[in-house]
Amino acid sequence: MPSAPFAVRTEHVACPMCALDRPKLYRERMYRIADVRFDLVRCPCGFVYANPRPDGPTLGKMYDDADYYTDGYNLGVETENYFTRRDELVAQYEGEIAKLEGELGVSRGDLLELGSAGGFFLEAARRRGWRVKGIEISPPAVEYSRREMKLDIHSGDLFEAPFADGSFDLIVADNVLEHTTAPQKVLEKLRALLKPGGHLYVIVPSYVNSPFFRLILFLQRVVPRRFLGAQLVKILKLDPDADPKGGGYPYHILEFDRATLVALVERAGFRIERVEGSVPLPAEVFKAKSTTLRVLCLRAIFRTLDFGMRVGVLPGARLTLVARA
Ligand SMILES: [Zn+2]
Repeated sequence: MPSAPFAVRTEHVACPMCALDRPKLYRERMYRIADVRFDLVRCPCGFVYANPRPDGPTLGKMYDDADYYTDGYNLGVETENYFTRRDELVAQYEGEIAKLEGELGVSRGDLLELGSAGGFFLEAARRRGWRVKGIEISPPAVEYSRREMKLDIHSGDLFEAPFADGSFDLIVADNVLEHTTAPQKVLEKLRALLKPGGHLYVIVPSYVNSPFFRLILFLQRVVPRRFLGAQLVKILKLDPDADPKGGGYPYHILEFDRATLVALVERAGFRIERVEGSVPLPAEVFKAKSTTLRVLCLRAIFRTLDFGMRVGVLPGARLTLVARA
């Protein structure tokens, strides 16, 4: 096993949701940095989080990793390098923003994206006439979005960003909150950065702390692994040991569900306008070149799950939330 490219230090933390410190083991050895394993624990309040977790400097070094957006585990449900999907993603985001503009009744204002990655969402918003700024903690992503996309990106932490309170009409945080050590403080800061009546658009994974995940863990005892295939076993986080990277870095240090996400956003002073569940559709299944019976079955299963989550009869594997300051 390769040694860590940096010193791994951990810290014990109380529940980031309610500050109670009575963790029960939820999912053992979920993540790994070199030979250091990380467990997920569950608080009596229902919140699931990594504990002990990598300390601040260790988290910082993880995001310095040039492979973060291009390598295996961190691609999530995608099989292709994030940066090579640029055109596809910009087009997809343009559609998403157009829909959001219709829903919110706003357009062409000041937009901030927290965790702007390569800047594809910001580029899509800019094409639709928004004035855009980003905050990104991963130096290789900052470098890319400045060089290739010519975007105005603050490199580093939200709390050190040079933006005055009341600067933005819309703030977007897509797959970001689950990486934060103090989500409540982050949401309060975002509220301060919004103009009165401004909107917050949040997307978080909501999978590991869900009845859905617990059901799949149970089902995998009866469904043969080869039906799912190695890639899906990895995406579904069913077996950290099956992944050659050992489950990967513990980037997700928090696991939200609908109740905890809504409570945190409301406590930060927002009014919730919409929360919708959905399931990310794995590229391995939906972009498959040959449509075998297995692929068709899996597509039907994912489409059905997605429908059930969108209409609210199933808990979402991903949550999309719109709130107003
Ligand atoms: Zn708690």
